Amino acid sequence: MSRLDLAGKLGILADAAKYDASCASSGAQKRDSKGGKGIGSTTGSGICHAYTPDGRCISLLKILLTNACIFDCHYCINRKSSNTRRARFTAKEVVELTLDFYRRNYIEGLFLSSGIIQSPDYTMEQIVEVARSLRQDHHFRGYIHLKTIPDADPALIHAAGVHADRVSINIELPTREGLTRLAPEKSEPRIEGAMDGMKTAILDGKDARKRYRHAPRFAPSGQSTQMIVGADAATDRDIVGRASGLYQRFALKRVYYSAFSPIPDASAVLPLKRPPLMREHRLYQSDWLMRFYGFAPAEVQAAANDNGMLPLDIDPKLAWALKFRDAFPVDVNRAPREMLLRVPGLGTRAVKNILAARRHRSLTLADVGRMTTSIIKLRPFLIAADWRPVALADREDLSALVKPKSVQLELF
Ligand code: SF4
Repeated sequence: MSRLDLAGKLGILADAAKYDASCASSGAQKRDSKGGKGIGSTTGSGICHAYTPDGRCISLLKILLTNACIFDCHYCINRKSSNTRRARFTAKEVVELTLDFYRRNYIEGLFLSSGIIQSPDYTMEQIVEVARSLRQDHHFRGYIHLKTIPDADPALIHAAGVHADRVSINIELPTREGLTRLAPEKSEPRIEGAMDGMKTAILDGKDARKRYRHAPRFAPSGQSTQMIVGADAATDRDIVGRASGLYQRFALKRVYYSAFSPIPDASAVLPLKRPPLMREHRLYQSDWLMRFYGFAPAEVQAAANDNGMLPLDIDPKLAWALKFRDAFPVDVNRAPREMLLRVPGLGTRAVKNILAARRHRSLTLADVGRMTTSIIKLRPFLIAADWRPVALADREDLSALVKPKSVQLELF
């Protein structure tokens, strides 16, 4: 193998990191270097949160320490048996790259993951060393997100939380059967054990900060996880159930969904085709319904069809409303917030504006229209001062009436 320079390694290890979805820096604590000490900040000028059209954050230096791995997870391009070109950074090289990119204003922080080299402990030590050096040797105040290795010594996983804003431990697949089949060296109890340890450490850290103002912060942006969608037989209903269980048991900030992408020389146990990207999008929408719209997991699951899949042509909130029409219409001038949040087409901001506006006057359909983007979608589900959807709500073809029109994508 020819020797790679830094740019060559960066090309390989940034490309290899593109399969990681969990890179949004939301929820970072405010920290800056205005006092003249340190470098970087998590907020304020010089920081941009850039998102690609499919919602992925691109403002972090997102790389792997190495794409070599001693494990052989079937779905992963970096697995031991893959013939992909390998590269490896030293911890010092990652530190220098991060500082260099930050100074050039390319990034607001670092997202670091890695294949497993030598052993989980050795790899975790290298990952922690990057964050330690950035924080302690260079007083880096930017955002750091570390992917941790559940099989590593708990003390090393804990050390990641000492230096990073956010840590994540991948659950990998929605079901235990899927994990056993596609990532045989990984173990669900070990992954969940690591998440549980991290949850306890985060709660202890918060508790210490309440009692002692100068207690060190511990993973202030919490922990997250990622699961691959479409590599095994798990349905959307299974995935929603799994995600809600993870939120409840491990106080996760986010569950990221990553649509499985076929890889070169793929193992025969994998599907040949990727799932539609829209499936990933619908799962994110269902996640939003549980986190911000007050839907119970069982309600989101009820929006799925008989095969356990969320419809691709309409969002899960509209699918739920079409299935449970007896919950509608909702009176925009009287209904409580939790019922307004169930109306298709009403987002959290629109509901907030409605609640504020109706204190002063009775709202008409046109008033509501000015606060939303899609009056067509919400008309059958809403009563306003001048509107009552008498026959509309019961029409058999309601689904076709409120469905977004399909648009021909541009070919070039
Ligand atoms: S441990 Fe991670 S990097 Fe290694 S093969 Fe499995 S998914 Fe890929």
